[in-house]
Amino acid sequence: MTDLLAASATPSVSTAAPIDQERRIVTAVPGPKSRALHERRLAVVPPGVSSALPVYIDRAHGAILVDVDGNQFIDLGAGIGVTTIGHTNQAVVEAAAAQLHNVTHTLFTITPYESYVRVAELLAEHTPGDHAKKSVLVNSGAEAVENGVKIARKHTGRNGIAVLEHAYHGRTNLTMAMNFKASPYSTGFGPFAGDVYRAPNSYPYHDGLSGTDAARQTTSYLEKTVGATDLACLVVEPIQGEGGFMVPADGYLTALQEWCTANGIVFIADEIQSGMARTGKYWASEHFGLVPDMILSAKGIAGGLPLAAVTGRAEIMDSAQPGGLGGTFGGNPVSAAAAIAVFEQIEANDLLAEGARIGATLTKALLDLQQLYPIIGDVRGIGAMVAIELVLPGTKEPNADAVKFLADYAAQRGVLLLTAGTYGNVLRFLPSLALGDDLLLDALGVIADGFAAL
Ligand SMILES: *Cc1c(COP(=O)(O)O)cnc(C)c1O
Repeated sequence: MTDLLAASATPSVSTAAPIDQERRIVTAVPGPKSRALHERRLAVVPPGVSSALPVYIDRAHGAILVDVDGNQFIDLGAGIGVTTIGHTNQAVVEAAAAQLHNVTHTLFTITPYESYVRVAELLAEHTPGDHAKKSVLVNSGAEAVENGVKIARKHTGRNGIAVLEHAYHGRTNLTMAMNFKASPYSTGFGPFAGDVYRAPNSYPYHDGLSGTDAARQTTSYLEKTVGATDLACLVVEPIQGEGGFMVPADGYLTALQEWCTANGIVFIADEIQSGMARTGKYWASEHFGLVPDMILSAKGIAGGLPLAAVTGRAEIMDSAQPGGLGGTFGGNPVSAAAAIAVFEQIEANDLLAEGARIGATLTKALLDLQQLYPIIGDVRGIGAMVAIELVLPGTKEPNADAVKFLADYAAQRGVLLLTAGTYGNVLRFLPSLALGDDLLLDALGVIADGFAAL
């Protein structure tokens, strides 16, 4: 009989060799081992789960990914803004490893534990506004959106959900209905949830509208097509993620929030991509003077472990009945321990300043590049969340081919770069805060060479 009760080994944090923070390409990309793994994958993983760059990752640390062939990539995507404080951050690894040895699961709705409570305290402390706040922890961003909407509906007794053009909120049934872009996210996957109303957003590069005018366009659209009194919530990404990092015009978001407050609509900030220290503040909302009724977080909050949260005004959050919220894995102890370590690292190492540093270096370099290559129509973003929109020469028409070329060019040379945008014509920079300026400038040099080669 196997001894299921054998004494646990001492937590061993890392036995692997340290990873030099440098770019190094030693095989074709993808290399032979990645290609072999890809063959196996094609037999057992459906194509609906695609991979932007099929190099199979073996290890990672800081801002570097190491693949199974020994190639080292500068990671400008951080798993879409998840490993915000760096891959395998030592404090996060230690906290999670220690927790693994103590308890991995009880289910908070059966027998609770402290770390869930601590994460809720940290979220209350570090989200905008000094009102009483409460949080529910779940597993994924989409699940946070679903729960935010559920709670807003219960609180208001209304059904309508307002979202914005170019929004992205997830891949579950409700969130598919909330996304702007059908392909690939929802094509063929209906029927979709109803009562979702999509209003024009603020997209300064294309609409040229002031924040006030853009907000009037949004709210008058909603008043005409739904009526404010039928709306439970307005869900807004303060800086849109998948849509292409649109930074709304000054005053747009506060005008929307005032309109929501005046009409009893819950203002929900989806900060799943823009949050958790990415923009040089904990939440992008803070750059715009917003105090959302509810903030949704996920991606970066637990250093790479799955965790998401809905944090809202206590009186709104209290409207859901006991047993109405939760889920088997929601607020898993290992993820919660990792999230606490992430908050501690941000405070101890002043990581908000690192977001600002990366933003300054990136923006300057990209604006310089725009002088040379006018197909860079727009450079936008805040902190470590910056993008360039590429256009056809002399127009504002999308140039998705150039984006594809540049992402491929960079990958071949050891720079992992993400694309975005409703029309696939945006290159986004979403690096971890552990990315030093030397590595960042090295990556930007590769991208500049890519533009020269275009
Ligand atoms: C990624 C993302 C989601 C969905 O999160 P998942 O964890 O993938 O379900 C929702 N909203 C925004 C803004 C996102 O970037």
